[in-house]
Amino acid sequence: MSTPNASGWKPGTPAKDDHGMDGPPTVTGNRALMLEEPLIFEIGTSQTTGVDLPDVPSSTSSRLGSFTRADEIGLPGLSEPEAIRHYTRLSRQNYAIDLGLFPLGSCTMKHNPRLNEKVARMPGFADVHPLQPVDTVRGALEVINELAVWLIGLTGMDGVAMSPKAGAHGELCGILCIRAALEARGDAREVILVPESAHGTNPATAAFAGYRVENIPATGEGRVDLEALKSRLGPDVAAVMITNPNTCGLFERDMKAISDAVHAAGAFVYCDGANFNAIVGKVRPGDLGVDAMHINLHKTFSTPHGGGGPGSGPVVLSEALCPYGPLPFTARTKDGVVHLVEEENAEAFDHKHAFGRMTAFHGQMGMFTRALAYILSHGADGLKQVAEDAVLNANYVLRSCDDLLEAPFGPSGPCMHEALFSDAGFAEDTTTLDLAKALIDEGYHPMTMYFPLVVHGAMLVEPTETESKASLDRFIMALRSTAERAKAGDPTLKTAPHYAPRRRLDETQAARKPVLAFDGPCAPAGTPQLSEQGGS
Ligand SMILES: *Cc1c(COP(=O)(O)O)cnc(C)c1O
Repeated sequence: MSTPNASGWKPGTPAKDDHGMDGPPTVTGNRALMLEEPLIFEIGTSQTTGVDLPDVPSSTSSRLGSFTRADEIGLPGLSEPEAIRHYTRLSRQNYAIDLGLFPLGSCTMKHNPRLNEKVARMPGFADVHPLQPVDTVRGALEVINELAVWLIGLTGMDGVAMSPKAGAHGELCGILCIRAALEARGDAREVILVPESAHGTNPATAAFAGYRVENIPATGEGRVDLEALKSRLGPDVAAVMITNPNTCGLFERDMKAISDAVHAAGAFVYCDGANFNAIVGKVRPGDLGVDAMHINLHKTFSTPHGGGGPGSGPVVLSEALCPYGPLPFTARTKDGVVHLVEEENAEAFDHKHAFGRMTAFHGQMGMFTRALAYILSHGADGLKQVAEDAVLNANYVLRSCDDLLEAPFGPSGPCMHEALFSDAGFAEDTTTLDLAKALIDEGYHPMTMYFPLVVHGAMLVEPTETESKASLDRFIMALRSTAERAKAGDPTLKTAPHYAPRRRLDETQAARKPVLAFDGPCAPAGTPQLSEQGGS
């Protein structure tokens, strides 16, 4: 039963398109704490500025000549409080790991302990400059070297290139090492084999490095087909790129057999180690015959990431590839001093075959400090528990939902760090996308969708070890509820999200024809500014 109120609105009647919320429309477009925010160009005027600059003396003659701007610059001007409000309001429309569970599979969106931030902000680390004389940054070099020693130890490898700035950048570094090693023995191999279940960056990297990419099928169990791989190996194959744990959230049990076969054929094993979170402290990839593997410090070692950065993808290398690793790197000599090895002293450190450099400088110092703080505060035993809890949490999600959502590889055993579901059993016309949009209404960032490609309508959930059981239970409740609606063909799923600041976007247009520049004029002076409401 509903009672009309003064405005004629009846409870249960959605207002026009005001975030689909019940209730009368508001004149501002705001809904209590949910604030509307226009583009900065729509509120800033070119006549306003947040700083006072002295007038240019009229006697000063311009030295710009014909480059003098004839028209207005067209940039929006805002006072300092207006600028702060604008960006704070936008930030409130965002989702963040500090707000809630972030189930994005293959991304390891886990809590970043604040201790890491405190350490990374210490001026001795935060304020160093890459061009400072080495003698003035000994502490920073110690940090890089100490982290390198940990990464080598945790992976059972022989060396590490610290400078790559993302996972994909690390892949390129590893493949360039492999190419240098092959060239050194006069071996011009042209093909890199990549399993079907590989992360998209793997074939992209191989192609970027000039190799022809060939696919290796997956078994019905979601793992690399060892026999198919073996039968394709030959004198034209430079390397095999394998993600382990793979993007179906499964451990490649045949990894050692794969490595042995690849080595016997004269090729190298690249392992995509972005999912190291699931095995850190439990498995050393070096023991499995891996020649090169990148580690995403921003995933396993907890630096906050997403939306473009920051990233850091050190690459651990086997004995066979170490001689070709890029410059610079750090090395501790017998006297205990950590040196920075660059072009001018590479020969003195017996490193004459470096393939080159990946970056102008030394890598992501802020992330090195965060990662080392994380490692030292967990210790070797704590890191092992990270992997165990990450796997436990993922299996809890898997087994709490597999009666409702099809888990294609569920019957063959437990998963690693992520649970994979398909859209089997959804009502006709109802898709994974619809379910994901409904999860937004429930206050969750959706999981990874339609990836890996080997599963129809895939949903890949990586809860990570930093979620409590209570948090997982709430998420599972939301996932089960949306899954039930998807199976029942609830039509409101098709129009979700109903409560987000914006409704369903045209994602194809957004991807194909993104509007990246504001081409209208700035707001004219005197425009009523939403962001002034409540101001002085
Ligand atoms: C995240 C990820 C990558 C890419 O890492 P970036 O830092 O985003 O370049 C590569 N492979 C796998 C399996 C990943 O999960």
